[in-house]
Amino acid sequence: MSKQVAVFTCKKIRDISCIGCIKCFKAVSDRAGEFSRYIDEDEVEIVAMTNCGDCPGLTMPRAVLLMENLKAQGREVDVIHFGTCMVKAVQTAACPINLDKLKITFENKFKKEVVIGTHNY
Ligand code: SF4
Ligand code: SF4
Repeated sequence: MSKQVAVFTCKKIRDISCIGCIKCFKAVSDRAGEFSRYIDEDEVEIVAMTNCGDCPGLTMPRAVLLMENLKAQGREVDVIHFGTCMVKAVQTAACPINLDKLKITFENKFKKEVVIGTHNY
């Protein structure tokens, strides 16, 4: 079995605190952090990684565009993750996004599982 994953990131933190997003790619490979839920999957593929659209969090228009582009390329996504960078932005940098609310909005709009967080390094 396999899972196709898309990750949303904090525009302000990505590539500053996690250069190259190595932490997320490592965690997927290790099935660590929030990716531990895929421990029984033979394959986990990150099919997309995009940012929130910058402050104050223009995430939904980007998500709609992302889904349209995935479909146009014949790609699927099973699960959407909000990166740990977004979680940290909320917890430490006054990010205005309400991740719990955005999770519900995404789930209702896209009918996909949404997970808050990625790696825990
Ligand atoms: S949490 Fe993941 S997506 Fe966000 S900056 Fe770090 S490695 Fe990149
Ligand atoms: S809205 Fe939040 S997640 Fe997006 S760039 Fe601003 S602080 Fe980062």
